Amino acid sequence: MTGRVAIVGIGPGDARYLTPEAAAALAAADALYGYGPYLDRIAVQPGQVRHRSDNGAEQARAVAALEQAAAGISVAVVSGGDPGVFAMAAAVCEAIDSGPDIWRRLDVVVVPGITAMLAVAARIGAPLGHDFCAISLSDNLKPWDCIVRRLDAAADAGFVIALYNPVSRARPWQLGAAFERLRRYLPPSTPVVFGRAVGRPGDNVTVTTLAAAPTTVADMATLVIVGSTATRVIARPERPSLVYTPRSARGAHA
Ligand code: SAH
Repeated sequence: MTGRVAIVGIGPGDARYLTPEAAAALAAADALYGYGPYLDRIAVQPGQVRHRSDNGAEQARAVAALEQAAAGISVAVVSGGDPGVFAMAAAVCEAIDSGPDIWRRLDVVVVPGITAMLAVAARIGAPLGHDFCAISLSDNLKPWDCIVRRLDAAADAGFVIALYNPVSRARPWQLGAAFERLRRYLPPSTPVVFGRAVGRPGDNVTVTTLAAAPTTVADMATLVIVGSTATRVIARPERPSLVYTPRSARGAHA
C-alpha cells in the first residue's frame, strides 16, 4: 500500500479564502502537518492526527510527512496562501529529490491556494495589472547580494514587485535597505502598498509612496507591493483610493 501526500494551500486568511478542493483534501487526510497557527485555522475532524511544527522547520516537516505517507497514511501538509509560493510544495519536492526511492512512488498532489500578493492586490484595485514579480526579502535561504541583484533587475526592467517576508524579528533592516535600493530606479512618487494580515480579523491595507514608505509598520504578516513607473493611484471622494497598473506598457520606461 502506498500513501498519499497532499500539499494544501489554505489561502491568506479565514475560511472564505479556502477553496472547496482544499477543504476536501484537508478533510480526507488521516494526518495534518503544518505550522501551528495554520493548523489552528482548520476545522477539526474526528480521528485526524495533527503534527504541529515551528516556522522554519519546513524540511523536517516535509521529511516527517513523507515518512508517514510511505507507511501508507494519507497526509496533508498545510501552507498559508499557495503552497507553491515560498512554501511547503518546494520543500516536499526537495525532500523527494534527495530522499529514498520509495518516496518517488507516492501519490503527490499540490492543491493551490490564494497567495498573499493576490489577496492584497484585490483589496486595493489592480496593482499587478501588468508585468510583475515576487521576491522574498528573507536572506535565510539566499544571500543578501542575490536579493539586491534581483531588486535592481526587477526595478530596472519595469516590473511591479511584490515583497514577501519583508521583516521579521531576526531581519529588521532588509525592508529599509530594499526601499533604498529601489529609490535608485524609481521616482519618489511610486505607489507602495502595505497589506497586513489580509483576510484575517483586523486586516489593514494602506497606500503610500516610495519616498514616504515606512519600514516600521511591516511585520511577518505584511506583504508589500512596490509599483512600477506606470502604476497609478486614483483618489476617490469618500472611498478608498484605487491603485492600478495599466494593462498597456506603450510609452512606459523599459
Ligand atoms: N505561501 C504563502 C507565502 C509564505 S511566505 C502565500 O502564498 O501567501 C510568508 C509571507 O507571506 C509573509 O511574510 C507575508 O509577506 C506574506 N503573507 C502571508 N499571509 C499574508 C496575509 N494574510 N496578509 C499579508 N501578507 C501575507
